[in-house]
Amino acid sequence: MIIDGKKTAAELREELKKKISQLKSTYNAVPGLTVILVGNDVPSKIYVKNKEKFAKEVGMNSEVIRYPVDLQENELLNKIKELNKNDQVSGILVQLPLPKHINKRKVIETIDYGKDVDGFHPMNVGNLSSGYDSSIPCTPLGCSLLLKKAEKNLSGKHAVVIGRSNLNGKPMTQLLLKENCTVTITHSKTKDLKTECLKADIIIAAVGVPKLVKGDWVKKGAIVIDVGINKTDAGIVGDVDFDEVSKVAKAITPVPGGVGPMTIACLLSNTVECFKKAHYK
Ligand code: NAP
Repeated sequence: MIIDGKKTAAELREELKKKISQLKSTYNAVPGLTVILVGNDVPSKIYVKNKEKFAKEVGMNSEVIRYPVDLQENELLNKIKELNKNDQVSGILVQLPLPKHINKRKVIETIDYGKDVDGFHPMNVGNLSSGYDSSIPCTPLGCSLLLKKAEKNLSGKHAVVIGRSNLNGKPMTQLLLKENCTVTITHSKTKDLKTECLKADIIIAAVGVPKLVKGDWVKKGAIVIDVGINKTDAGIVGDVDFDEVSKVAKAITPVPGGVGPMTIACLLSNTVECFKKAHYK
């Protein structure tokens, strides 16, 4: 089974569109997403453009604030504080990476955690790891929705997560624990990654190494979710050798067309959740 992220993301956006139209009739207001982009990083500009496009498509208010690369940190922090107080803004996202002179941690911690649609604020990170309600980082959230397409009940499954970043590996681990998986988290210092992977019913690869996971690393019938987006001479490839692994896995996400499209759809979903929480207060 090839898990179709493009289709699943389109279905999720369609659901969100309906939800937003219901919210509009209940509250006479719609969720609003504000994205802040600092500088001229080309991939960031593309991501932001897509976020704006899809937010509008589902009927949200969407605003992008663009700043030059030499923006002073204080100006950015003041803008975030202003957005925190603005009732029209349900979600705030500061596109990463930021220029080196701006302290990323300070920026994340300045965002009201109730509007932190990326799920990076320490309150949300702590709530997620404590098993409480929280914003969940968009890419791992997308991975867990795709996993559910392949297997409804994940309880008792052995999952191996490759990568321990705050963005992907760590929150993914928390989501798998919530589903009662037994989780092994691996990284660049893990000894014998192949042996670890061979024990897995589920592999989540979030590494950034093209085609790291080979066919003989995967147990027959495993589910493999490939988060990697790696530019190579042969085009964009994942962290999993798709041609080899698709012959042994029960289900696998392709790259492109797997996890990637889910990330923005989950960002929109997080924005709707933030709106709902703010209005149910
Ligand atoms: P990251 O912050 O660079 O983290 C990579 C992780 O992989 C680290 O924990 C690192 O270990 C581990 N690692 C590196 N080489 C390894 C190896 N040979 N064996 C085992 N582990 C290894 O990367 P990230 O931000 O999580 O992103 C990972 C990949 O996902 C990238 O390709 C990125 O482009 C992609 N991505 C995709 C989406 C999407 O929407 N689909 C979103 C975000 C990122 P250490 O901790 O020991 O250094």
